[in-house]
Amino acid sequence: MFDEAARLEALKAYDILDTPPEPQFDDFTRLIAYICDAPIAAINLVDRDRQWFKSEIGLGVRETPLDISICRHAILQKGVFVVPDTTRDSRFMNNPLVTGAPHLRFYAGALLESADGLPLGTLCVLDYKPRELTAEQEDALQVLARQVMANLELRRQMRELQKALASNEKLREGLEGKQEELLSLNEDLTQLATTDSLTGIGNRRVFDAVLKKELHHFRRNTEPFSLVLLDLDDFKLINDRFGHDVGDLVLQQVVERLGPLVRKVDLIARIGGEEFALILPATNAAAAGEVAERLRLRIADCGFARVEARPVTLSAGVATVRPDDTEASLYGRADKALYRAKANGRNQVCSDQLQAPNE
Ligand code: GH3
Ligand code: MG
Ligand code: MG
Repeated sequence: MFDEAARLEALKAYDILDTPPEPQFDDFTRLIAYICDAPIAAINLVDRDRQWFKSEIGLGVRETPLDISICRHAILQKGVFVVPDTTRDSRFMNNPLVTGAPHLRFYAGALLESADGLPLGTLCVLDYKPRELTAEQEDALQVLARQVMANLELRRQMRELQKALASNEKLREGLEGKQEELLSLNEDLTQLATTDSLTGIGNRRVFDAVLKKELHHFRRNTEPFSLVLLDLDDFKLINDRFGHDVGDLVLQQVVERLGPLVRKVDLIARIGGEEFALILPATNAAAAGEVAERLRLRIADCGFARVEARPVTLSAGVATVRPDDTEASLYGRADKALYRAKANGRNQVCSDQLQAPNE
């Protein structure tokens, strides 16, 4: 026969039990009641211990216990199951639905069969008097039973599709999450690759990139920008005297003090051990010289570290872009100016502008 557990499993998969009445199923019971000229018609599904009607006419209930079900016998055989007179059939003559109200005398049911051939229930018609179905009526019962199943099948497939779509959506959301994670990881990596770990400001790589960008910008709109190279004076002495750790601390504190003195559009970067660079967009030579001087004073005056009774100081070289400059030539002039500041006794700012062009 069939495996009852598999049958119940198949029924469950259609997800139809205890759903509200639906017009497309009610149409089938109405139609088969007309065709068979029967007062009662039902789409009847046989559950574990009840029969449940997806649609019914003339019964007035949505389910009845299985032990008084005629349908439960109907699903034991293929095709159409007909009981012309229940009072003459030993299986039903003592059934309370036969002996008492509603006094069912006639039953005909066509099997509702799953795609795998498992019986789920019947499309059935009943009557209060003994009778037969014509061949055409019996055929119609089978045709419509197949149509009921086609509807159930469609509905099951729709649900599966919806589930697949939902899990697809979940997958997509998961992927989007991963993508965001990767983007933020990428940001972290970029941050790592462009930040000086000791002081938290930009590193040489950022400096090179910004210098290139500013030069490119300058070539297009000729707005001058300036470059300031800063180098701590006699920094080696700090390390020698107080140790490398203190040297590190001084570097951090220098950055802490210089940072607030530059604009948001300016770049301050650590380009070497105790060397820093400032790129000042839209800044001419005079203004750049003033900025550099302000930075120099900030460090010289704060006296946060003294070496051999002298405060930590810095020297600065300032260069302002010229039309024919390359990164290297601009950098070279700033470096030369810085060299002059060192040579002149340190703790001072020198500008390439103050120097004769033939230097
Ligand atoms: P000058 O005034 O000519 O610039 O003298 P200086 O001693 O500052 O320059 P020099 O180039 O002779 O020495 C730079 C020193 O900076 C040497 C090096 O040990 C130190 N230094 C470089 N990077 C770091 C760092 O990350 N931490 C510490 N603590 N010291 C550093
Ligand atoms: Mg140096
Ligand atoms: Mg130095």
